[in-house]
Amino acid sequence: MHELALADAVMKAAVQAADDAGMARIDKLVVKVGELQQIEKDLFEFSLANVLAGQDPRLREATFDVSLEPVRFECNSCHHGYGRQDVSLDDGDGGEAIHFIPELSHAFARCPKCGSPDFEILAGRGITLERLEGSGPDE
Ligand SMILES: [Zn+2]
Repeated sequence: MHELALADAVMKAAVQAADDAGMARIDKLVVKVGELQQIEKDLFEFSLANVLAGQDPRLREATFDVSLEPVRFECNSCHHGYGRQDVSLDDGDGGEAIHFIPELSHAFARCPKCGSPDFEILAGRGITLERLEGSGPDE
C-alpha cells in the first residue's frame, strides 16, 4: 500500500530529526505531500496514526498536519514556470491520463507559453517532513 510506505518513511524521518535535535517528546509533525504523489489524504493520515502509535515512544502523543503541495513545472526551453492548471494538453484524453497516471504528464503536458514538451518538475512530486514540534529532555 502506497500510503503506508509513505507514512513509514515520514515516521523514520521524524525519529531521525528528533534524534538530531535531542527531543525527548514529539508533539507535532507537519508534512507536505506533493500533488503528484496522488495519495488518498484520509488513508495517509490513517496510516500515519497507525504507524506512529506502534513505533518510537516519543511519537506516541504526536499529532500531525498534512497538507498538499501543488505541482510546479518549469519549461526547459523558455524557463517559464507554470502549475498544473496552466498545462495545455494535446487533446481531451490527456487530462484524464494526467489525473490518473501522473508519470504520464511528461508525455502530455506542453508549456503554456512556448508549447515545448520539455520541462522539469520543481515541486509537488515528493513528500517532505516540513517541521517537527517537540520538547527536549529538560521539559
Ligand atoms: Zn516554454
